[in-house]
Amino acid sequence: MPDQGRKVQKGRVVRKRALRPDTTIAPAGKPEEEIYVGSLPVCCLRSLKLAALAEPENRRSLMLDCSSCGRSWWITSSLDERLLKRFVTHGGPRVTGGTHPAA
Ligand SMILES: [Zn+2]
Repeated sequence: MPDQGRKVQKGRVVRKRALRPDTTIAPAGKPEEEIYVGSLPVCCLRSLKLAALAEPENRRSLMLDCSSCGRSWWITSSLDERLLKRFVTHGGPRVTGGTHPAA
C-alpha cells in the first residue's frame, strides 16, 4: 500500500526549532507570577521567538518587550541556549533566596 496519506510540504520552510517548553517567563517585576512560555499571549510568544532567532547582540537584554501589546516580560528560567544568550534570566524568589530584592 503506497504511502499516500502523507502530505509532503513543498517549498522552503525553514525549520526553526521551537522554543523549549520548559522555559518560564514572568511579567517584568513580578517573578512570582511566572508562567510557561506556552501560556504566553500569542503576540508575546511571537516576539520572544523573533528575539531568540535574531542575531545575538553584544549584551543580553534585561527583558522582552512585546512590540504588539507593549507588555514586558522577564525570562525567569530557561534551558534554551538561544534565550540564554539573548536575555538575562531573573530567578524567582525561590531561586534568589536571601538576596535583596531589587526595588
Ligand atoms: Zn504581547
